[in-house]
Amino acid sequence: MKRRLLLILLSLCSFNLLFASLIGKLIVVDPGHGGKEDRGATGTILEEADINLKVAKYLRELLEECGATVIMTRTSDRTVSLAERANLANRVDADLFVSIHFNSMKNTPNSDFSIAYYSAYSADYARNVADYLIESFKKYVGTSGDAGPGDVYLMREVKVPAVLGEPCHVSNEEREQWLNEEENLKAVAIAYKEAICRLFDSEIPELNLEAVEEINSWDFNIDCSQNIDKAFAFFDKQPLNVEIQQDRLFISVPENISPGKYFLTVYAIGKNGVYSKKYTKWIQFNPPVDSVKIEIFPDRAPAIAGSYYKIDLIPYARRHCVDKEPLSVKVSDGFITKSGNSLIIPYMGIDEVCITVSYEATELTVPLLFSGDTWVEVVSIYSDDGTFLGIIENTGEPVTISYDGYERVIYNQTPVKPVSFKSIRVNRTLEGFLKGKKIIIAASERKESFEKIAQILQNYGCDAEIVIVQSKRDEINLMRRASSVDFIFLISLNINLKPRYETFFLSDEKELDRAIELLKKAGGIG
Ligand SMILES: [Zn+2]
Repeated sequence: MKRRLLLILLSLCSFNLLFASLIGKLIVVDPGHGGKEDRGATGTILEEADINLKVAKYLRELLEECGATVIMTRTSDRTVSLAERANLANRVDADLFVSIHFNSMKNTPNSDFSIAYYSAYSADYARNVADYLIESFKKYVGTSGDAGPGDVYLMREVKVPAVLGEPCHVSNEEREQWLNEEENLKAVAIAYKEAICRLFDSEIPELNLEAVEEINSWDFNIDCSQNIDKAFAFFDKQPLNVEIQQDRLFISVPENISPGKYFLTVYAIGKNGVYSKKYTKWIQFNPPVDSVKIEIFPDRAPAIAGSYYKIDLIPYARRHCVDKEPLSVKVSDGFITKSGNSLIIPYMGIDEVCITVSYEATELTVPLLFSGDTWVEVVSIYSDDGTFLGIIENTGEPVTISYDGYERVIYNQTPVKPVSFKSIRVNRTLEGFLKGKKIIIAASERKESFEKIAQILQNYGCDAEIVIVQSKRDEINLMRRASSVDFIFLISLNINLKPRYETFFLSDEKELDRAIELLKKAGGIG
């Protein structure tokens, strides 16, 4: 026995040399069970509650020798609830929570295997220890086994990385004899210590949230170790953008996140693939208020009775404030209409008006000058898919722009002196596309719903007519008329019109929506 003890002491020393790396680490050691009520697994002479405590005390000593700060959930034989154990680890924000147990399996002689559970929280970090633990148990206890996620109360409630080890079975007679010797309990403690040292020796990425208090901008940064490959940050469950620059993480908040109190979570993956623990903190996020700027383009407007002037509002800040309250717009004289991101200001016979736009704490006032002498429009025309169709110089006469069924007339009667360009988009509409088009709705009987289709089409400005086809003669008449109409809807009719015009087959009258969709498609309307 003496020889074995010596061997263990030797290896203990060598590991201290190799892994004297626990300085600054806070480890909570949790001897399972305890107190009169809860003895844990029992053998014929040993009770788990006692040997857990012994192993834990040895482990505390070993970890402290390596520089760690160790907190025990109990140091005597007393009752400690699972909630108290978890709360302690969470409260001190431990780097690791280690729960010490032994297993029991009555009536199963070959029960000498080990198991290590890791917590769901910071699973990748805790799983490393669990894997190391299994290797350590094999080496120091002589049992082999598995590591897996632990879906038990303790492993769920502990919000720091946690492992729970069951190195062997106290219910196994031979093993119980083994555990009855102090040096073997020390060996179990060494197994834990070695696994823990291996974890902290593997260059775990470290982050520091201490400096993060209130966040008063759209960006903030935190200190981190230099071995980080990837990093992730969240406000509650909403991901933030993270950029790694040497020893800092630059984190920016997406513009759709509102001011408020958030649970900040940050973690990283090291260049060696090792996960950091999850660093968390409640923080208040107060981004600066947004501002807007008004762009007047051009800066003079036509001073003609009945004319109006359009001003584009351009959001200045990250958030698209223009379409949101509490943007408010006032004009010193007259009135103003807001249309999308534009303001429409009619000429009211006053040469200069002041426009005031306010948003949150920002307020901007811009003068707008109406004068009759320098106004002309040169209009670039784009189709709704953005294709450039051409430029029309507006010479003062009304100009009609027509585009595939849609027309727009621009009135401008001021003197000609080109000053600037202005773009408008001519959006193709179903109304514009159908205006003046001839459509026949052909069906075998007249129904109220067909009248509805016809009415809707007429509302779109086309000439829609219902034709009843009941005989061969009706069919021939329809074919004869087909060449003079633009579209034919055949409802539940099977007539081969071989047309040069477009024919839509509808199975019944319920397909009104589809009819409209087909027309939109035919017109290339999105
Ligand atoms: Zn137990």
